[in-house]
Amino acid sequence: MPERREELIDRRTLEDAKSFRFSAAQEKQFEADTAAERCRMLFERGLLGLAFYVAYLGIDWLLTPDVIATAAILRVGFVVSLGLAVVLVVRSNPPVMVREGLMGLAVVLAGFVGLVVIAASQSALRDHQHTTYILLALYVVVVLQLRFPYALATCLALFGLEAMAIAVGPSVDLATAVTDLFTFVAVTVLCLVAANSFDRYMRAAYLLGRRQYQRSASLEDLSRHDPLTGLGNRRALEDALNALAEEPTDQPYAIVVADIDHFKSYNDQLGHQAGDICLKRIAGLLLAELRGDADRAIRYGGEEFVIFLPATDLATAQIIAERMRRNIADSRIPHPGRSTGVVTASFGVAAAPWGISADETIGAADAALYAAKNAGRNQVWPRLRQAADDTRHAASA
Ligand code: GH3
Ligand code: MG
Ligand code: MG
Repeated sequence: MPERREELIDRRTLEDAKSFRFSAAQEKQFEADTAAERCRMLFERGLLGLAFYVAYLGIDWLLTPDVIATAAILRVGFVVSLGLAVVLVVRSNPPVMVREGLMGLAVVLAGFVGLVVIAASQSALRDHQHTTYILLALYVVVVLQLRFPYALATCLALFGLEAMAIAVGPSVDLATAVTDLFTFVAVTVLCLVAANSFDRYMRAAYLLGRRQYQRSASLEDLSRHDPLTGLGNRRALEDALNALAEEPTDQPYAIVVADIDHFKSYNDQLGHQAGDICLKRIAGLLLAELRGDADRAIRYGGEEFVIFLPATDLATAQIIAERMRRNIADSRIPHPGRSTGVVTASFGVAAAPWGISADETIGAADAALYAAKNAGRNQVWPRLRQAADDTRHAASA
C-alpha cells in the first residue's frame, strides 16, 4: 500500500530530528504545552540535588575537616536556603529565562561555595574537592536537562570555577591540572552533545504528537457533521443533549422537527442532484433563524431536520419554527409536483422541562409533525393559538 503523504512527512520529521528546529511559533506552543510539567520536574530534581548537596558535608568532613563549620554554614545556611527559594520560584511556573536561568545560577553558586571551602582550608586533601565540578556539570546537563544555552553557560562557569579551585588548591603538577580540566571538558561536552540530540528527538516527538492530536480533533469534528449540508448530525445532537442533561436548569428546552413536504416527488421530477442542492438551501434557511451557538440545527435523516433550542419555551420555539417555515416558502424554490408550485416544509414543536428525556421530547415533536402533515403540510404544529389554549387549559385543570 502506498505510504500516505502525512505518514511520509511524519517519518521525515523523525529522520531529520538531528537537524530539527522549531519555528518561533512552534517554540512558543511547545513552551506553553510543556512548561508546567517541566517546572514540576525541575522542582523535584532541584530538591534531589539539594539533598545530595547536604549529604556532601560528609565529604567535607573527610577532605577538609578544618573548615567543616564554615562549610556547613555556607552549604546549608546559604546555598540550601537559597536553593529552596529557587525551586519554589521555579515551581510557580515563571518565564523560561527565569526558570532555566535561576536553576543554572543556583548550581554555579553551589560550585562557588566549594571554591571558598578549598581556599579556606589548609587540608592536604583539599584538592580532591574540585572533582565536584564534574558532578555539578552532570547534574545540570543530564539530571536537570537545562535548555541548551543555559546548560552551556552554566558548564562554562563551572569550568572557570574548577580552574580557580585548582589554582587556589595545594600546588599540583601541570599534568594533573590539565588531566582534571580535560576530563571535565570531555565529560561535559559529550553529555551536552547527547542531551542536545535527546532534546531534538523529544521536540520531534512532541510535534508528531501534536499533529496526531490535530488530526484526530478534525476527524472528531468531521464525525459530527453531515457532509452534504454542513449541519450537525445525530452525534452532534447527542452531544448537545448530553451537555444539557448534565446542567440542571429551571428553564425548559424545545425541539423542532422539520420535514420537507413531498420531497420524494421533488427528487423524482428534478433528479437526485437537484434534491441535494435543495437540501443544502433548506439547511441554510434553517440555520439563518438560530439565535446563537447554543441553538443547533441537525440533519436527522434524509430530508428531516431537528432543531434543538435550549432555554426555550414552547411559544418561542413555535415562533422560531414559523419563521423557518415562512423562510422556506418565501424562498420560492420551484417544486413542479406541488400544488403550491414551491418547496415547503412542515414543522412539529415540543418543549419540556429539564429532566424530561430528549427521546420523549423528540417523540412529541415528531407526533406534532405528523399532525402538521395530516393537517395539510406547510405549517407549524401545534399552532400558536392552539398552544395558548392548551396552556390555559392545563392551568385551569
Ligand atoms: P412527506 O411530505 O410526507 O414528508 O413526503 P416525502 O415525499 O417528503 O416523504 P418520503 O419519506 O416518502 O420521502 C423522502 C424522500 O427524501 C425520499 C428520498 O428520495 C429523499 N431523500 C432522502 N435523503 C436524500 C438525500 O440525501 N438527497 C436527496 N436528493 N434526496 C433525499
Ligand atoms: Mg418529507
Ligand atoms: Mg421524511
